[in-house]
Amino acid sequence: MRLLLTFALTYPWRSAFTLLAMLIAGVMEGVGLLLLLPMLSIATGEQGPVDDNTLAGLGHLLTEALTRLGITPSVGSLLILIVACIVLKGALLLLARTQIGYTVAHVATDLRLALLRALLAARWEYYLRQPVGSLANAAGTEAIRASAGYLYGASAVAMLIQACIYATVALLVSWEAALASLLAGAVVILALSRLMRKTHRAGLRQTQYLKSLLTRLTDSLQSVKPLKAMARESLLGPVLEADNTRLNRALRREVISLEALATLQEPMLAVILAVGLYVALTQWGMQFNAVMVMVLLLARLLTHLTKVQRQYQRMLSQESAFWSMQDAIEKAKRDCEKTAGGIPPRLEKCVRLEKVSFAYDNTLVLRRATLDIPARSFTAIVGPSGVGKSTLADLITGLLRPQQGQIWIDDVPFEQMNLLMWRQSIGYVPQDTFLLHDTVLHNVTLGDPALTQADAEAALRAAGAWEFVTAMPDGIQTSVGERGAALSGGQRQRIAIARALVNQPQLLILDEVTSALDRESEAAICRTLRELRGRLTILAISHQPALVEAAERVYRLQNGTAVLIMDGGTPVAASPVLHGETNLAGG
Ligand code: ADP
Repeated sequence: MRLLLTFALTYPWRSAFTLLAMLIAGVMEGVGLLLLLPMLSIATGEQGPVDDNTLAGLGHLLTEALTRLGITPSVGSLLILIVACIVLKGALLLLARTQIGYTVAHVATDLRLALLRALLAARWEYYLRQPVGSLANAAGTEAIRASAGYLYGASAVAMLIQACIYATVALLVSWEAALASLLAGAVVILALSRLMRKTHRAGLRQTQYLKSLLTRLTDSLQSVKPLKAMARESLLGPVLEADNTRLNRALRREVISLEALATLQEPMLAVILAVGLYVALTQWGMQFNAVMVMVLLLARLLTHLTKVQRQYQRMLSQESAFWSMQDAIEKAKRDCEKTAGGIPPRLEKCVRLEKVSFAYDNTLVLRRATLDIPARSFTAIVGPSGVGKSTLADLITGLLRPQQGQIWIDDVPFEQMNLLMWRQSIGYVPQDTFLLHDTVLHNVTLGDPALTQADAEAALRAAGAWEFVTAMPDGIQTSVGERGAALSGGQRQRIAIARALVNQPQLLILDEVTSALDRESEAAICRTLRELRGRLTILAISHQPALVEAAERVYRLQNGTAVLIMDGGTPVAASPVLHGETNLAGG
C-alpha cells in the first residue's frame, strides 16, 4: 500500500488522470450492465415479479430515464447503448493504460537518474565504498523490477475500481446476493493471504541475493584475466554458487506462491458461484433474467476481486526492489558532499597543507603532514607505493577532507572556498586514462559546448600532442578506437593531459602519469611539463626519476609526513624543519 501511495505522490497529476479515466470507464461498464435489465425484460417479455421491488423499481427507473432523454427503450436502442458504453469504457481504459505505460517507463528512468545524481553528489568516500556490481544491479534489475511493481500495483487499482463498480451494481440489483458474494470473496482472499506473505518474503530475498550475486560477479569478472591465465577460473564457480542457489530458491518460492494463488482461486470461485446460483434459483425463486444478470455480475465481481489479489501479489514480489533503490538514493543523499563555502578560489600564492591528518577508517595515511605548493611552480610528490600520494592529491581536490589540520588556498581556508569553482580550476590526469571511442576532438573537449576546436588545438599543442594528431588520417577528427586502442600509451596520456589543459586550469595534477610509459614517451611528457612550467601550478605524483628531475620542488612522503628534498631545483640535504612539523629524514 505504501508503495502505491508513494507512486501517487511522486506522479500526482498522472495518477489522478489515470484514476479518473478508470473510474469513468468503470461507471460506463456499470451502466452497460444495468441496461441489460430492461433489455432482457423486453426481449423475454418478462416483467419484474411483484415482490421483487428493487429489481422492478430499478428497471422502471432506467426505462423512465431513457424516455426522458428521448430514447424509446427497445431491444435495438438498448443494445446500441450497451455497445456505446462498452466502446467508451474501452477507449477510457486505453487512455488510462497508456498513462500507466508512460509512468512505468518513467519509474525506471527516474529511479536510475535519481540514483546517479545522488551518487555523483555524494562524498567521494561514500562513492568509494559502493560495490560497482550493486550499483549496476540497482540501475538495471532493481529499476526494472520497481517499474514492474508499479505496473502490477496500478493494475490492482484498476481491477479494484472495476470490482467496486460491479459491487455497486450488484448491490442495486440484489443487495443480499451482492453481500453474500462480497463475503465469499473476502473469505477466498483471506484464505489465500498466506501466499501473499510468502511472495513478499521471496521478493525481498531475491532483491538481497541479486545484489550480492551481481556484486560478486562484477568483482570476479574484473579480475578474470589473471585467473584465466593461470587456468584458475573454475574457482569462481563456487564463489558465485552459494548466491545463485539461494536466488534460485527464492525465485522458486515466488513462482510457486504465484501459481498456487492463481490455481486455488478458480475452484474456490466456482464453488461459490454454483452455491449462489442454486440458492437464487431454488431458494429465493428469483427470475431467470435477473439471475443471469446477477450471475454475470457476481462472476465478474469475484473474478475482479481475485485479479486484484493476484496483481497485488505480483506487486509485492517486486516491491522490495523499489525500496532497495530508494534506500540507496537516500543513503547517498545523506552522504551528500558539502560545498558550503562561497569564496572564489584564487591560486596566486600557494596551496598549503598544514598539520593535515587523514585516515581511511582505521588506516592512518597522513599524520600532521605540512607542505607548500607555490603557485606556478612544478612540485612533485614522491614516495613508495601506498604511502599516501594519491590521498594527498584527493585532499587537495577536496574529494577527501582531512580529519585534522587545515588546507589553505592562498589565505582562504578550504571549507570557506567555493569547492565547485576550485575544482573547475583544476586539471586532473590519472594514471589510468579513460578515452572514449570517439574523435580526438571529442576526447579533449568531452563534448563541452563551451569549448571550440581552436581550444582543443591549443590544449593539444600545450600537451605536446599536436604533431602526432595532425599526422593522423583525419587529424583532430580521427577516431581513437575502442579505449584509445589506435594510440600508444604515451599518446593516450598526452591526449589526457590536453583534456586536463583545455579548460585552462590554474592547477594541473598528474597522478603517476608516466609510470606505465616507456622512457621515450616519459621524456616527451617531461619536456611538455617543463614547457608548461611557470604558466600554471603543476603537482605531479610520481616515483619516476625523470619526472622528479623536471620538477622545481620535490617532497618525499614517508611515515605520513612530507619531507622537502628539493627546492628550486637544488637538493635539500639537511634543511631546517619546514613549518615546524615536517619530518626531515630521507632525500
Ligand atoms: P599511493 O598513492 O602513495 O600509492 P594511496 O594514497 O593510494 O597511496 O593509499 C595510501 C594508503 O591508503 C594505502 O595503504 C591504501 O591501501 C589506503 N587506501 C587508499 N584508498 C583507500 C580506501 N578507499 N579505503 C581504504 N584504504 C585506502
